[in-house]
Amino acid sequence: MLQNRTRLNYANHYLFFHPTVTSELAETGLRALVVEDEGKLAKAIAESLEASAWQVATAANGEEGFYLATSHTFDVVILDLNLPGRDGLEILLTMRRHGWRMPVLILTARDSLEDRVRGLDCGADDYLIKPFAFPELHARLRALARRGRHDDATKLRYGEIEMNRVTRIASRAGRVLDLTSKEFDLLEFLLRHKGHVVSREMLAHALWNTRARAVPLDNVIDVHIARLRSKIDAPSATPLIRTVRGVGFSIQEQDL
Ligand code: CA
Repeated sequence: MLQNRTRLNYANHYLFFHPTVTSELAETGLRALVVEDEGKLAKAIAESLEASAWQVATAANGEEGFYLATSHTFDVVILDLNLPGRDGLEILLTMRRHGWRMPVLILTARDSLEDRVRGLDCGADDYLIKPFAFPELHARLRALARRGRHDDATKLRYGEIEMNRVTRIASRAGRVLDLTSKEFDLLEFLLRHKGHVVSREMLAHALWNTRARAVPLDNVIDVHIARLRSKIDAPSATPLIRTVRGVGFSIQEQDL
């Protein structure tokens, strides 16, 4: 890893923070990393975010993106999938495997359901298909950043499940759960509604920021629930996440 890093030519990093950002904003402004090889698009995204007082760093290939993502702190990472060097999904998988949980929004021209599920499975928190509208990108990024920074009720508990929202560590009966950022958010949402049924519409709205429910998203939600379930419910443990047929999901220990 270090050898790879030293081989990088840092002078070629498109790392820049807006020159007018004050030190105060540097503390409170949101930071985004844009990993995108289409120069014009990267520039347009950076400029539009900077106009909203974000601090933006850009990387034009996978290696730079991975280096910046793992060596700096960002509130959100905007990640193109088709990149020269390392593919976006490969970067994401590697980041998640190493425990980096910062929210990642995938930006892609690939729009098949399979690609989206694959992206989410690799640990993405959201995705946006090109071409997209800038206001939508901004809204999604704000939501992702808010979720990362929101800090009411640091600890949530239910039965054997315990979650710390600041360290973003969740455990069951003392066993730390290896959750992706999205799975953590999903578990948190279920815990906040413990004992009640959470519908797919609620999840789509709260976690994927969609107002009108798109049918394919149901499958994405189901995939995430299945993965969360497999991580929470060790073979001998009592299943905690229940499917309420035709309605949604509920976290509870007793039968409905
Ligand atoms: Ca590309």
